[in-house]
Amino acid sequence: MKEASYYEKKEAKTVQCRLCPRNCVIKPGQRGDCRVRKNQEGVLYSMVYGKPSAINADPIEKKPQFHFLPGTLAYSIGTAGCNLHCDFCQNWEMSQSAPEDISSYEMSPAKVVEEALRNKCSSIAYTYNDPVVFFEYAIDTAKLAKKKGLKNIFVMNGFISPEPLKEACRHMDGFHVDLKGFRDKFYREVCHAWLAPVLESLKILQKEKAWFEMINLLIPGYNDSSQEVTEMCAWIVENLGTGYPLHFSRFFPFYKMHDADITPMSTLSKSAEIARKAGLDYVYVGNVMGEEANTMCPGCGDLLIRRSSFFEVLENRLKQGKCPGCGQKIQGVWR
Ligand code: SF4
Repeated sequence: MKEASYYEKKEAKTVQCRLCPRNCVIKPGQRGDCRVRKNQEGVLYSMVYGKPSAINADPIEKKPQFHFLPGTLAYSIGTAGCNLHCDFCQNWEMSQSAPEDISSYEMSPAKVVEEALRNKCSSIAYTYNDPVVFFEYAIDTAKLAKKKGLKNIFVMNGFISPEPLKEACRHMDGFHVDLKGFRDKFYREVCHAWLAPVLESLKILQKEKAWFEMINLLIPGYNDSSQEVTEMCAWIVENLGTGYPLHFSRFFPFYKMHDADITPMSTLSKSAEIARKAGLDYVYVGNVMGEEANTMCPGCGDLLIRRSSFFEVLENRLKQGKCPGCGQKIQGVWR
């Protein structure tokens, strides 16, 4: 086990974790809400350091990151545990488990970097469960990866305290933030957390000039009203600007959520239209078989990157991060 980075020692060997807004007060022998941070004799430890439960070389488009080294592979790792408990979680076997309940590999940060290079990946993605709960492992790996010329991506829910997020900004080259809805009620009842810290994290990323993309899973009857999507897009434009990509994703019943239908295509299209009308430059619809997900130039409307629904880049016309037609700079992390 590795000593945790952000916590305070209290009386009687109790500790308070400061990594995420839950600020768990943890007595000796107990764990935080995420199940992977344990107080042992007054010292808080990460129980998942060097113990990934999932490892894959994924297309970067699968994260989804569309403006980050398109067509490359991201060596992706995740562990047990999460600080959110979404009823619709797609990775619940990992995220809602304690480390002893699922199998894991022994993999030091150096080994992760070595394997990423061996698998011809251009980056390492900290993903699957929320990397906030394996923060120390992700940061140590990112530091080594950077020295070897690899980029790093933090695929997170944004439910993280400001100080660790600013530290992550110093070591990560990109973030992916899951903005699960735009109503605090939805966050409380369905994700068992709350919205304000997620919005604060997005503002911090923008202020720190970090690169990030956002995803919004549209769940029929829960977070997909035109009013909610309109308010969310207006908030993004006002607080973050128009240049960060927003992905709308299709919901499929999963885990504890079986009372909602698959998101209709019409809802996805309507939401994308609302986002474009609000002024967002890069709007995508994902998790839909057979549909291309292309990047168009916000300046002249030309096709820049053509992708299949299977995460393949079919064509990339960008020239040094610019549109070859009108010269418009396209925001993102390019080669
Ligand atoms: S990271 Fe885990 S232990 Fe720390 S405050 Fe969040 S839920 Fe609690």
